[in-house]
Amino acid sequence: MNKKRILVLAPHTDDGEFGCGGSIARFISEGDDLYYAAFSLAEESVPPPFPKNILETEVKKATSTLGIVPANLLLFRYRVRYFAYHRQEILEDLVLLNKELNPDLVFMPATHDLHQDHSTVAFEGLRAFKKTSILAYEMPWNNLNFATQAFIVFDENDLNKKLDALNCYNSQKGRNYVSEEFIRSLAVTRGVQIGAKYAEVFEVVRWIL
Ligand SMILES: [Zn+2]
Repeated sequence: MNKKRILVLAPHTDDGEFGCGGSIARFISEGDDLYYAAFSLAEESVPPPFPKNILETEVKKATSTLGIVPANLLLFRYRVRYFAYHRQEILEDLVLLNKELNPDLVFMPATHDLHQDHSTVAFEGLRAFKKTSILAYEMPWNNLNFATQAFIVFDENDLNKKLDALNCYNSQKGRNYVSEEFIRSLAVTRGVQIGAKYAEVFEVVRWIL
């Protein structure tokens, strides 16, 4: 199989690791090129006593733990929770990313994700990547419903990379979904649905074969 160019759209720095970290680890181990675009460093949401730019340090560590090379980590600095006010600028950044990277596959949040920044990135992503396969990743704490349409299977090694990557986010450990038990259980749950050990699930937005 040819080497794929895959782009992960993460509204905030850890969204890509949560939504598709196991899949990222698997694709990298198979030799694909992974790009990770994060749209906010969420400086306003960093709890004290962490420095305001801590998420920049953490996302660099987390993505390199997954195997993403530093040059493929693309950081934008939109203000957390205010993405809707910058919808057009975000669209223009995405259009440029499409032009520069011409990805074969894009991962993004679902358009029905309840977080306002996530749905902004999802809708603008649909506009920017009109001719690309798109899978929407699951974030159970932000999804009222989620159609379990596509599964990506991965092994223990990939799951451990996802856990190690999320473990780099020391500043986010107060949140209840930042739990090894939860991440592991969800991978097991999605695996059980298809008779695999571990998996992540996605909604199919567009699939080009
Ligand atoms: Zn987020």
